Amino acid sequence: MGANEILKALNGSGLILSLVGESIRVAPPGKLTDEFRALIREHKAELVELLRKPNDPPPKNAHEFFAVYGKWPWNFQYVDSHPGRVSLGPEMVNQMFYHWCPECGRWAACGDGFNPSKGKLGRWWCARHDPTLAQNGHSGAVHPGRNSVIA
Ligand SMILES: [Zn+2]
Repeated sequence: MGANEILKALNGSGLILSLVGESIRVAPPGKLTDEFRALIREHKAELVELLRKPNDPPPKNAHEFFAVYGKWPWNFQYVDSHPGRVSLGPEMVNQMFYHWCPECGRWAACGDGFNPSKGKLGRWWCARHDPTLAQNGHSGAVHPGRNSVIA
C-alpha cells in the first residue's frame, strides 16, 4: 500500500491528517485504531512528504470529493462539519440536491437565490453560518426575497 492509498483509507474512515512540523496530527483521535496507527508509523516519511505537497485544488463536486476521500460527501454525518465539503458548490446528483455550508462543511439548511427553473442552485449555509441570520442575531426570521428552509 502506498502513501496515497493509506491516506485515502484513513480519510474514508473519517480521519483527517494534517502536518504539524514533522509530526502527523490525526483527528478525531477517537477514530484512530491501532491498525491505522501502525500504518501511519510504518509509512510516516511518505505520508509527511505527501502532506507537505501543495494541496491539490479542493474538491468542487461530489466526484472530486470521492476521489480524495474515498466516500461520497453524503456518506459522512450531515450534522458534522467536514473540511472537504466546504469547497463543494450546491449540486444535483442522481436527482438529489446536495448543499453544504461553505464555512464548516455541515449540511446547509438555509439557502438564498434557489431557482432551479432558471438553473440557479443558490447559496447555502448552515443555520450557524447563515450571514443574514448572523446579522439579525436571531434565527427563524423570514427574509424578503430569500428562501429559508429548515431541514
Ligand atoms: Zn456552517
